[in-house]
Amino acid sequence: MYDVIVVGARCAGSPLAMLLARRGHKVLVVDRATFPSDTVSTHYIHQAGLSRLQDWGILDRLVATEPPAMRHLTFSYTDIFLEGFADPIDGITEVYSPRRTILDEILVDEARRAGAEVVEGFTVTDVIFAEGRAAGVRGRIGDGPEREFTARFVVGADGRNSTVAGLVGAEIYRSVPAACFVYYSYYDGLDWTFQHRTGFGEQQLGAWPTHNDQHLVAVMRRKERMREFRANVEGSFHEIIDQVVPELGEDLRTNGKRAENFRAMAYPDNFYRRSAGPGWALVGDAGYHKDPFTGWGITDALKYTEVLAEKLHEGLSGSRPIDEAVEEYTKIRDAESNGTFELTCSLAELSLTPYYDSVFRATSMSPEYTTKFFGLIAGGIPGEEFFAPANLERLYEDVNMPADRRILTRS
Ligand SMILES: Cc1cc2nc3c(=O)[nH]c(=O)nc-3n(C[C@H](O)[C@H](O)[C@H](O)COP(=O)(O)OP(=O)(O)OC[C@H]3O[C@@H](n4cnc5c(N)ncnc54)[C@H](O)[C@@H]3O)c2cc1C
Repeated sequence: MYDVIVVGARCAGSPLAMLLARRGHKVLVVDRATFPSDTVSTHYIHQAGLSRLQDWGILDRLVATEPPAMRHLTFSYTDIFLEGFADPIDGITEVYSPRRTILDEILVDEARRAGAEVVEGFTVTDVIFAEGRAAGVRGRIGDGPEREFTARFVVGADGRNSTVAGLVGAEIYRSVPAACFVYYSYYDGLDWTFQHRTGFGEQQLGAWPTHNDQHLVAVMRRKERMREFRANVEGSFHEIIDQVVPELGEDLRTNGKRAENFRAMAYPDNFYRRSAGPGWALVGDAGYHKDPFTGWGITDALKYTEVLAEKLHEGLSGSRPIDEAVEEYTKIRDAESNGTFELTCSLAELSLTPYYDSVFRATSMSPEYTTKFFGLIAGGIPGEEFFAPANLERLYEDVNMPADRRILTRS
């Protein structure tokens, strides 16, 4: 019998297993994948996410794999242009976009090193219940025999289509339709550093350096135009870049060499799902998923898995009832992630509301606020602080914004 079984071993699951095992708990983490394993993700990690890895003592290991460091970011949203970088967050002065084959393997290995038992290639098909509580899982490796593992607590860290969520009946209680689809691939021959460019015509280009001296290049458009895009994938891909930033389109054609197949996805809706119940919890995308536009999935998974680990430890060590402690994790997650969720859902529409247009246009005229903007995006400045009406009033005053453009609240 384990203390905790974690289903899913990527950004949410492995760190949870690692943190619990480090505190002496008996943990099993299973994943149907075998690592190294890729997944559909553009894998940008914010300073706030890297600071979690640093705190856990595993950032150096990631850095040793030589993911290219980014210290200068370029954002544009139609004609609003912002360049710079956030102030250090917990001493972190650069960011990375490591390939998931590398990041996730390190996380799995660190869980193992900490003493968690890791079973790869194991697909969970059932949650076992006893006396009204989740008490274990059932599943198998490939076509092998069915196996059962029991535990005091079961955590689904199994992604947005969470099997565990379905089996425990965890319902979605907040949902926002996703607007877009994405196509991306990896290119040799580019030197663009970080580009996050949303153009006129509701389309977006994202590009950043990653392992193997390659750049990940991604394009997004609204779903209504996906059929048209698919009729000529390569041509449409280039067309978006040409239209959003013509000089990058030209450079891609001249110097870029696509090294891998395109990955594609029509985004699933943004949601919060009930993430705690008797004997179970959900963490990472399983419980809270949003559009990748702001690149916060990995960072949030790392951040809130740490909160869950703390609450599970309180319960497992007997200092308070475990379900009560875990319920508190969901409250913390929901309260702290609300700003990121709302901002992400709005920006991912690929057209700015008048409010965000005013705020970001004014921000782009102020070096001080531009740095704050990057702090907001990186997780160093809370949304409540950046978007506080008093803060915006000062911004508008500083840049002499016309009176009719001084919008202070979202509604
Ligand atoms: C196109 C795209 C781009 C993105 N870009 C970024 C980005 O730039 N930055 C960022 O921070 N985030 C990004 N994200 C989001 C990010 O990838 C996710 O938020 C993150 O992977 C969530 O981690 P997780 O551990 O919760 O779940 P996942 O990474 O989904 O891992 C879940 C694991 O559970 C396992 N599993 C599932 N079901 C079972 C089962 N029944 N039995 C056993 N194992 C199971 C799976 O094999 C998988 O390994 C992007 C997402 C997409 C789709």
